[in-house]
Amino acid sequence: MTRITLVRGDLTREHADAIVNAANSSLLGGGGVDGAIHRRGGPAILDACRDLRASRYGGGLPTGQAVATTAGALAARWVIHTVGPVWSATEDRSGLLAACHRQCLRVADELGARTVAFPAISTGVYRWPVPDAARIALAAVRDADTEVAEVRFVLFDDRAHAAFAAELGRPRRSAAGDPGDA
Ligand code: ADP
Repeated sequence: MTRITLVRGDLTREHADAIVNAANSSLLGGGGVDGAIHRRGGPAILDACRDLRASRYGGGLPTGQAVATTAGALAARWVIHTVGPVWSATEDRSGLLAACHRQCLRVADELGARTVAFPAISTGVYRWPVPDAARIALAAVRDADTEVAEVRFVLFDDRAHAAFAAELGRPRRSAAGDPGDA
């Protein structure tokens, strides 16, 4: 059974087996969480990302997939990079956002990581509304078949923390939408 916890803070200061990076498909760094992870984690992470670009991910990491590297100087063993979808008002990309969470947990299981710290993927530069991202992220983690003991969402501000807390406290809706199960 995976425990889901929420903290308000800076992901790059977390102690965990693995820290998830909301990367872009280039894997070569960016703004937001990505920039912060590379700044605090040091050049070893970028070196490992360059190796991935030169081998398995010549075309970049596709949206919804995940891959691990060293965590460099961070207080973690691994960074798991995943590429969230850009928010769209006209196209439902929630399956890709759920896939990010599932794929990160699959990679964590392969590594043997038992504690995994996530940011609110896609809610920054990729503009996904935080309450909806919280709903998708929490459902994906709750439904995942994983050996990870703790999934910790590290939210950068009070608003994101409140949105995740509200969603975590909400009774689950059944996927089948059974009457009375709301
Ligand atoms: P994306 O491109 O997937 O939207 P961003 O990095 O732009 O990713 O933002 C994802 C979320 O992470 C945003 O809610 C942003 O406020 C938050 N964030 C930015 N820096 C940090 C950090 N150091 N720790 C935790 N969350 C962060």
